[in-house]
Amino acid sequence: MRIDVVTIFPEYLEPLNVSLVGKARARGLLDVRVHDLRAWTHDRHHTVDDTPYGGGPGMVMKPEPWGEALDEIIGTATPPPALVVPTPSGRPFDQELAVELSRAPWLVFTPARYEGIDRRVVDEYAERLTVHEVSIGDYVLAGGEAPVLVMVEAVARLLPGVLGNAESHRDDSFAGGPMAGLLEGPVYTKPPQWRDRGIPDVLLSGHHGRIARWRRDQALARTAANRPDLIARIDPAALDAHDRAE
Ligand code: SAM
Repeated sequence: MRIDVVTIFPEYLEPLNVSLVGKARARGLLDVRVHDLRAWTHDRHHTVDDTPYGGGPGMVMKPEPWGEALDEIIGTATPPPALVVPTPSGRPFDQELAVELSRAPWLVFTPARYEGIDRRVVDEYAERLTVHEVSIGDYVLAGGEAPVLVMVEAVARLLPGVLGNAESHRDDSFAGGPMAGLLEGPVYTKPPQWRDRGIPDVLLSGHHGRIARWRRDQALARTAANRPDLIARIDPAALDAHDRAE
């Protein structure tokens, strides 16, 4: 997969060189290109913002540098990339969207600053390619770079070959596997005794059926406690009698 990020703070994207995403890049599974938006300005001050039409506080990112940058990056490529525009007013980012984005061969991210990008930029590219306006949560950050880090990591770990064990995201919270719709329950590792705390006996039993049942009960209890909205969305037909007793 190829990912381009256009930003006025390229250094903010340096974490994309480390850990899972960095390794995926080093192994050639992910081609990440970070661009400085100011390279597409033509004045002495490399201006990317201006005052908003209609008045009001704050500044708005000018359309010209974004247009020039996107035209040059996208070129005449067919198929064109999908554009991912971080914005608090976008569709909520979730695992379903991460899966959808992970299937695209090429994504271009446009993290903004100030009050966002002149609307004409999204309108222009929406006529030529798929545009996802995406929010990572119901709060307002100073810029879209942190949302890009969040989205790229969520997408990258779904790419074939990126996780050592392809099964390891199957049981994650929000995954579509046997625990679909549930948050993952607690996990434990060695030592068997830490301070005065042990491990639930069932996990040491070696009994796969009982362990699976315990994990599902824990997932149900945690989801009911932390995210009752997710419980309400589960198809009742997907619950067994034991689930309902939980
Ligand atoms: N005035 C905008 C509003 O109220 O919707 C907020 C602009 S915010 C200060 C600047 C930029 O940060 C946004 O254009 C977007 O790129 C990014 N941003 C801030 N919060 C975000 C969020 N929750 N999800 C995605 N991007 C966000």
